[in-house]
Amino acid sequence: MGHDVGVTHGRFAPSPTGDLHLGNLRTALAAWLSARHRGGSFTVRMEDLDRVTSSAEIAQRQLDDLAALGIDWDGDVVFQSARFDRYEAAIARLDGLGLTYPCFCSRREILEAARAPHGGEVPYPGTCRNLTDAERAERSGGGRRPALRLRAHDEHVTFHDAVLGSVSGIVDDVVLRRNDGVPSYNLAVVVDDDAQGIDEVVRGDDLATSTPRQIHLCRLLGLRVPTYAHVPLALGADGQRLAKRHGGVTLADAVVRGRTPAQVRSLLAHSLGLADADEPVDMPELLARFSWGQVPRSPWTVVTNPDGRQHHA
Ligand code: GLU
Repeated sequence: MGHDVGVTHGRFAPSPTGDLHLGNLRTALAAWLSARHRGGSFTVRMEDLDRVTSSAEIAQRQLDDLAALGIDWDGDVVFQSARFDRYEAAIARLDGLGLTYPCFCSRREILEAARAPHGGEVPYPGTCRNLTDAERAERSGGGRRPALRLRAHDEHVTFHDAVLGSVSGIVDDVVLRRNDGVPSYNLAVVVDDDAQGIDEVVRGDDLATSTPRQIHLCRLLGLRVPTYAHVPLALGADGQRLAKRHGGVTLADAVVRGRTPAQVRSLLAHSLGLADADEPVDMPELLARFSWGQVPRSPWTVVTNPDGRQHHA
């Protein structure tokens, strides 16, 4: 895929595991505006690494929703499920550098070893980093298939984020290949962003903690490090991350309840600090108004009422 040096190339990279909700659509709109307001190109990539949870029908609905809002993209939509050879080549390279090791830990063991509260993502505590050959043989003998991890030496990485400012984090021994043989999200994303010439990554700020890992991987693999903008999450009225169970959270829900896609776009634009509440605003106007400086740094609370109207709190 061609890439003109000096011209921004942005992207939106959803996982086709469920319909996009207003928070995802808002991130997509911000990503598109950021690239296009500078005359840049824009790519959509389907992160369907996990073929069990992903579906082609959902991918198509996601693309239809983007198009309905006026978000367009250049070239073909790339599907990660068709690119495993590229991810394996990158893994082989890291392996050749002596930077990988098999990890037999279950998720529960990692949480326990890290004494982490239930659920959240925790840095890997390094349990399998220094196993002897005999210990590895013993663990494989039990029938456990290992994941493959990067030997990362707990380095700190700091990056500048267009929304969050300076962000620092520790690079743990990130998974490169899961124990079911599927390449990891962190590995695939850096390989693809580089291969596709992406130089601006816009995504939800729940992924900001993964960015130091990705920058470290870029450096090890000799890939270009893009710029980053992590968009604050959308929350439901209960303060939890916006999800299907909140109801009325997709474009289709809004349309069923009498809103037009243009009205939904105005709602998203308002949430991004680019329009007044309920102000009708088209894409050329939004392109003229866009800047990261206007995007709020705090989460966006979406309140869906029984009549289906969404409000921005
Ligand atoms: N596929 C990821 C998601 O849907 C986003 C990955 C990224 O933008 O880097 O949450």
